[in-house]
Amino acid sequence: MDKLLWNTPETLRNLLCELVSWDSITLTEGERLFAPKVASKLQELAYFREHPNLLELHDAGLGRHAVTALYKHPEATETVVLISHFDTVQTEEYGVLEPLAYFPEQLTKKLLEHKEDLPESARIDLETGKYLFGRGTMDMKMGLALHMQLIEKASTENWPINLILTTVPDEEVNSAGMRAAVIELVRIREEHGLSYKLFLNSEPSFSQKPFDIAEYIYSGTIGKIMPAALFYGKETHVGEPMKGMTANYIASFLTQNMEWNPLFRETDLGESTPLPVSLQQKDLKSSYDTQTPYRAAALYNVFMLKRTAAEVMDLFEQVAVESMTSLNASYKVICEREQVAGVGEVKVLRYEQLLAHATKKLGVAEVERLKNEALQNDEWDDREKSLRIVDNLMIQCQELAPATVLLFAPPYYPAVNTSDDPLIIELLELMQKSAKTFDNKVDQIHYFNGICDLSYVNYTDDSNGWAAFESNTPVWGDTYSIPFEDMAQLKGPVLNVGPFGKDAHQRTERLHVDSAFVEMPVMLETLIKSLY
Ligand SMILES: [Zn+2]
Repeated sequence: MDKLLWNTPETLRNLLCELVSWDSITLTEGERLFAPKVASKLQELAYFREHPNLLELHDAGLGRHAVTALYKHPEATETVVLISHFDTVQTEEYGVLEPLAYFPEQLTKKLLEHKEDLPESARIDLETGKYLFGRGTMDMKMGLALHMQLIEKASTENWPINLILTTVPDEEVNSAGMRAAVIELVRIREEHGLSYKLFLNSEPSFSQKPFDIAEYIYSGTIGKIMPAALFYGKETHVGEPMKGMTANYIASFLTQNMEWNPLFRETDLGESTPLPVSLQQKDLKSSYDTQTPYRAAALYNVFMLKRTAAEVMDLFEQVAVESMTSLNASYKVICEREQVAGVGEVKVLRYEQLLAHATKKLGVAEVERLKNEALQNDEWDDREKSLRIVDNLMIQCQELAPATVLLFAPPYYPAVNTSDDPLIIELLELMQKSAKTFDNKVDQIHYFNGICDLSYVNYTDDSNGWAAFESNTPVWGDTYSIPFEDMAQLKGPVLNVGPFGKDAHQRTERLHVDSAFVEMPVMLETLIKSLY
C-alpha cells in the first residue's frame, strides 16, 4: 500500500472531492473558511508537522487569506512557485441540482438521470464515464489538489528543490488574494535566500472551440484593463430639451466608437486579443422624474498583450477626443437648426486633470472628504466607488461641464509572456514528450485567454506605464492597489500546465478524469524533476 496520502488516482480523486465540498464562491463565508481548512489539510503531512512555520496564512482583506506552504530542501536554492486559486464562481445555474454542485461523485451520478436536460456535447461526455462534473472541479481545485500531491511527494522523497504552494482567494473577482501573496513571495524569497526558477500555475486547459479536445500549455497570460468614463452634461426639464444636454447623448458617441474598435486589437506570436466591448453603461439617476439625466457612466473591457496602461489610456483618450469632436459637430448643426446658443462644447479630460483642477479649486482636505464620502459606502464595489468619486468631484467643478472624464476602474491584469525563455522552450518539449507516453498531444498557447493570477508576477515595464494607471484610478491606494514593484521583483518564466476540462463557469463544468488523476501527476512530477 502507498503510504502517501494523495499519491494514487483514487486518493487524489478523494482529495479533489473534499476540496470541492468546501464551497468557496468568491466573497462568501465559504471563501473565508477555505484557507484555514486547506492549511489544516496540509498539516496532515509529516513535513509541515515538523516545520509548522513554513505553512502560513496571509491577510487578503475582508476576512480572507492566501496560503503559502514552503517545502525547503536543505541544499537547494532553486524554487518553483506553484500558483492556484481556491475561489469559484456561483452555482445558481445548477437549478434543482444546486445542492449537489459541490459533490462531484453524486452530481455526476445524478446527472445521468437528468441527461436529457444537458447540451449534447456534455451528455456525450457524461455517458463516457470519463468526466467528473461539479463547481470548481476544473476551475481550479484540481490544480490545487495536484500541487498538494506534488508537495507531499517532494517532501516525503526529499526532492532536491524547493516548492512554494501558493493558493489564493478572489481570483474570479479582483485578485486581492494574489496581489497580497506577491508581497509575501518577495519576503519569503529574501527570508530563506531562495531564487525563483519558475512560476507554475495549473489553471485548466480550455477548449478553443466547442468540440476541441486538444490540451494546451500556456507560456503567458493575456492582460485586461477597464477604461471607464463619466459623462457630465447639463440638466434641464424635458419640456425644455434645448436648454441642456443629456449624459446619455454624450455616452452614445463614445460607446459607439469603443465597441469592436480595432485600434485596441493587439497581435503577438500569431495570437490576437478579442475586441473591446462595453461592460456597463448607465445614467446615475436613482429614480424616475422629468429632470433629464445629466450624469452617466460607461465601463469598457480592453484586452492587451504588450501594451502598458499608459498606452491604453493614450488610445482611449484619442478615441474619446474623436468621439467628442464628432458630437460637437453634430450638436452645432442641431443648435443652428433650433436657433439656440447651446450649452457649449464637450471637453475630454483625464481623471488626473480633474483631480488637479479640484485640488486647486477646493483644497486638499475638501477633495479628500469628497473622495471618502464615496469610499465609505460599503455596498458599492470598487467600480462603483471609482465612478462615484469622479461624480462627487465633478459636482463641485461644474465649470468643466459638459465633459467626458476618463479613468480606469479595477481590476487590472497586466499581460505576461515568457515564450522565448530557454527554460520554457525546454519544458514545452518535455511536456509534449511526456504527453506522448499517454498517447496524448499538447499544443502551446502563448497567452492564456481565461485571465489568471500569473498576471501578477514577472512584471516588466521599463517605461513606467503603470504610473498612468495609478494616477487615473480614483480608488488607487484606498480600496485597490497593485504591488507593481514587488511584481517586478518576481522575475522568472511563467508556465501554466493544468488538467483538461470543459465549460468552466457553466453548470456543465467538468474535468477529464484521466487527464486529472493519471496524466497530470506524471507530467507535473516529470516537469519538477527536470529542474534539478
Ligand atoms: Zn480559474
